[in-house]
Amino acid sequence: MPTWWTKTLIPTLRQDPAEAEVPSHRLMLRAGLIRQLSAGIYTYLPLGWRALNKVIGIIRQEMDAVGAAELLMPAVEPIDLLSRTGRDVEYGDLLFQLVDRRGQRQALAPTHEEVITEALGAYVESYRQLPLSLYQIQTKYRDEPRPRAGVLRSREFIMKDAYSFHLAVDGPGGLNEGYDRMYDAYCRIFDRCGLRYEVVEAESGPIGGSASHEFMVLCDSGEDTILKSQRGDYAANIDKCGIGDRPWSYDGGPATALDEVHTPGLSGIDDVAAFLEITPAEMLKTLVCRSDDGWVLAVLRGEHDLNEGKLRDVLGVPVHLADDVPARAAGFAIGFVSPAVVNSIPLARMVVDPDAAQGRAWVTGADRVDYHVRNFDWRRDVGDALQGDLVRVADIRKAVDGDPSPKNDGTTLRAVRGIEVGHVFKLGTKYSEAMGFSVLDETQKRRPVVMGCYGIGPGRILAAAIETSHDDDGIIWPPAIAPFLVQIVPIRLDAALCKTCGDLAGQLGAAGLDVLIDDRPERPGVKFKDADLVGCPIRLTISEKTMARDSVELTLRAAGRQKAQMVPLSEAVARCREAVNCQLSAADLIPAASR
Ligand code: ATP
Ligand code: MG
Repeated sequence: MPTWWTKTLIPTLRQDPAEAEVPSHRLMLRAGLIRQLSAGIYTYLPLGWRALNKVIGIIRQEMDAVGAAELLMPAVEPIDLLSRTGRDVEYGDLLFQLVDRRGQRQALAPTHEEVITEALGAYVESYRQLPLSLYQIQTKYRDEPRPRAGVLRSREFIMKDAYSFHLAVDGPGGLNEGYDRMYDAYCRIFDRCGLRYEVVEAESGPIGGSASHEFMVLCDSGEDTILKSQRGDYAANIDKCGIGDRPWSYDGGPATALDEVHTPGLSGIDDVAAFLEITPAEMLKTLVCRSDDGWVLAVLRGEHDLNEGKLRDVLGVPVHLADDVPARAAGFAIGFVSPAVVNSIPLARMVVDPDAAQGRAWVTGADRVDYHVRNFDWRRDVGDALQGDLVRVADIRKAVDGDPSPKNDGTTLRAVRGIEVGHVFKLGTKYSEAMGFSVLDETQKRRPVVMGCYGIGPGRILAAAIETSHDDDGIIWPPAIAPFLVQIVPIRLDAALCKTCGDLAGQLGAAGLDVLIDDRPERPGVKFKDADLVGCPIRLTISEKTMARDSVELTLRAAGRQKAQMVPLSEAVARCREAVNCQLSAADLIPAASR
């Protein structure tokens, strides 16, 4: 059955909505795909919902194809469940919370690891029941601090989340095998959606775990920064990105004496550098961090940023920037700390980034409020501690454009922006251990179940597709996720023309092509503009003129109006199929992402 424009709701807008900053948001509002209810909360209008369902259909097929079973978990979960893994605290303000009439605290689920682990724990007893993969397509709630760009970052959104359960990491039926299958299924999903994407190594964030990859659509409006090696053999999120070897040595420092300078009220690197007329690269930044087992000093060159994940990996324990109050109480002159402080805080550990572990005259804090020093020398001013067990040199900073590739092949990393559309994680036993989910192995020993989890945002896929496929006139849908493949535009609608449209749409439908008929009593110019805006891959225009020649005018959205062709009515269906098939195969030619 075709869809008649006047029998559905497609509220296209002439003007650009003021609130939209990025193209996909602007076009989704203008083409009548979505409507905002409140910040980061959207209605999918009929066209948007159709496109979203096409994405969901592809995802569902590919999940089923790798043997995952679909289920549906509740959106409301008790906070007590999240507290079993500590994620009530980790998610913090991102959690939507409510108290029910019984006084129980509930959360609107931001993700479902705890819910699925609890359920499986009740039913799975033996290794014989593993491996097992389950997935759902369901609404998630995250009270994002900065909902932006329409459905790209919303507070309520649909996610496909899958979870896999294994007895072991390696071997047949193990996590690595399951992860690879999901990874390949993700590649097929994004290929079929017609997206160009990059797979990058990623930090696992609050979900935790040992390995993870993100699927990124590269575009300027993306919020993530990705670093890619020039050879194309390495790509990682900036939160995770390694840096190639950087030579370091504490030797060769200045012969000149330490020189204390009064820098009242100036604790920021940039302010101090400006005051002393130097660059941040001439300064050392000493950050006071805290792990469960003590103080940790992270030393970087002034212009660099700490990567807490790298510091955690170096130390082997979770670590975070210390709160000022306890750090001051412990004797740190916060804002004015120097690496020499390692000698006055018992058992403090220190990790120095290679770029900071250089023998030269540094400017750094004086370990005294409102004072800095010039001519800091590692050997002279820190001394023997440098040789001790508590001080090490390691990569602990965020990578930046121009850094050496971790492949150490003499090439550098380049920074690009991306939208994260999917994310796969090896969780390991983090959740099963926290929630006591174990099975009996072949020897009747209990072992915690090894898990993976796999998320995709269908709404983000739509927005990312539009972000990377549009022109000044509107959306250019990849055929597989277009709300309709064909839009029929009748000019001057009368009963005969209406019947022709209906008949043609019926034939197209029988050939597997879904059709929207613009039966509004609008001027042709308005209908053509809206057809370009809505962006269905094929437009068929029918008028008295084309009918006189027993033809329709066929326009491919991607090719533009100039390339319109007259096609005999009798060949219209075949030509449309050919056109879409050919576009679909063009999409298939997009190179699959390399690992
Ligand atoms: P981000 O880093 O962008 O906040 P995330 O890493 O927290 O996302 P995951 O927990 O990995 O997201 O969620 C899996 C997928 O769900 C993401 O890859 C993305 O496609 C989608 N997603 C996550 N948060 C949002 C959101 N606020 N709005 C729309 N889609 C989202
Ligand atoms: Mg993610």
